[in-house]
Amino acid sequence: MKSIIAVLASAITLATSFAAVSSEQVNIYSYRQSFLIDPVVKKFTETTGIKVNVVFAKKGLAERLAREGKYTKADIVLTTDISRLMELEDKSLVQAVDSKILNANIPAHLRDQENEWFALTTRVRNVFASKERVTDHHISYEELASAQFKGKICTRSGKHPYTVALISSMIAHHGYDEAKTWLNGVKDNLARKPQGNDRGQIKAIKAGQCDVALGNSYYFGKMVSDAKQKPAADSVNILFPNQDGRGAHVNVSGMALTKYSHNKEAAIKLMEYLSGENAQSIYAEVNMEYPVNPQVKPSQLVASWGEFKADMLPMSDIAANRKLALKLLDEVKFDL
Ligand code: FE
Repeated sequence: MKSIIAVLASAITLATSFAAVSSEQVNIYSYRQSFLIDPVVKKFTETTGIKVNVVFAKKGLAERLAREGKYTKADIVLTTDISRLMELEDKSLVQAVDSKILNANIPAHLRDQENEWFALTTRVRNVFASKERVTDHHISYEELASAQFKGKICTRSGKHPYTVALISSMIAHHGYDEAKTWLNGVKDNLARKPQGNDRGQIKAIKAGQCDVALGNSYYFGKMVSDAKQKPAADSVNILFPNQDGRGAHVNVSGMALTKYSHNKEAAIKLMEYLSGENAQSIYAEVNMEYPVNPQVKPSQLVASWGEFKADMLPMSDIAANRKLALKLLDEVKFDL
């Protein structure tokens, strides 16, 4: 009898210690890079004592979550753009989070109406224009299809999520047919086949291959801060399109709670932390993005580019047009 009680007691101790361990850790699947996530996560662990484990990957995390089903260890997914957030939602891999803190920290147009995903940062799809060769500083996305830019535009692949999101927003604002005419016009104006990454377009302007290019705001900030890339960055102006109209297209990085999170309470604490002032200022400083939390200011460098008007189109409308945007890219044969 005595030994049975002892076994039971130790089993209970074991069970509670497991519970204690499991409730005090959070597992992240992250498309975002470690240089950005590590400092934020470290601060969170210091503040709360909750351990955080991160798996980094460039792609395939949604597939992995789907494969693992309810056996997944992941509690939170961090993504680099809206289409990946929508993919998680479309595949029913995430669940809603009802949090007053998240709702207070993140403006409504930057979170899912069903609370299944939340933006953490925004980034502008800027026009970069040669300081030497372009005097017009009020270029709209629409004008990229006009004759003045014939043979003068550089861009990365149309199929890249950043380009897809911009085209989705054009469809949302103008309808499919008008967006198609526009995209054909942009294609006709390209200086070369779509290729390379965002920084590569700015380098191409410096090299004289083109005069204007599209790129995300934070890449410009990183180039300015890198001695090797600064000359290319210095050869362009960073322009905020559509300032006389609806405002510049923005995309988001964000987060979602997995459907089968085993550490839900701690995971929500981390999500709330990521939307808070501490984490938001780390994002702003380390990656030169715009914080979603209105209480947090962008970095000094980012602020030096000036205030701008952002397109307030809800992220969900951009995401809703994603498939049409991919169809449009195929029809226009944009990358060929
Ligand atoms: Fe990026």
